[in-house]
Amino acid sequence: MSSLEAKVSEAIRDIPDFPKPGILFKDITPILEDHQLTAEVTDGLIKPFENMQIDAVLGIESRGFFWGLLMAQKLKVPFIPVRKEGKLPYKTLKHEYDLEYGSAVIEVHEDAIKEGSKVLIHDDLLATGGTASAAASLVQKRQAEVAGFSFLVILNFLKGTDVLKPISPQIHSIVEY
Ligand code: AMP
Repeated sequence: MSSLEAKVSEAIRDIPDFPKPGILFKDITPILEDHQLTAEVTDGLIKPFENMQIDAVLGIESRGFFWGLLMAQKLKVPFIPVRKEGKLPYKTLKHEYDLEYGSAVIEVHEDAIKEGSKVLIHDDLLATGGTASAAASLVQKRQAEVAGFSFLVILNFLKGTDVLKPISPQIHSIVEY
């Protein structure tokens, strides 16, 4: 285990039965209290992509905004916020996807993803892959390319990487459970 992996798994706080019974919520916010570790996480997230062309970083609401923006700043590329329906003020592109019960809609400003660009998708955690693959659909709807996926945490037992692999094999995280 790398020292970054050890420090991150030490900082992550497990919250049982949040937001509903049976879910063990991985709370990454304690990392934000440590500015040094926050900076190390930014570098660790970028590292697997350092020899690739990345034209923008897309972050998924809301915990994907913390490091999505930091990564974009460090890579000196635009940051693209993807939000839940009804939050973005300008004209939007939408994508509806299935949840365990029902469905959800995510949105992006219609001019935020540039045609032909290589977009790195970031969120705090990969579970089933539904959210990240919905974000990938927004990228593809704009004729842009998914350069890869970046997470702090991957929950391997939920097999989200199987869902994302056909979109891009570049799927990286700092810790896995
Ligand atoms: P999924 O679409 O199933 O891959 O779920 C990923 C999204 O739900 C991410 O935005 C995560 O922040 C959130 N999420 C799902 N499961 C957890 C969990 N156990 N702990 C923290 N966040 C979670």
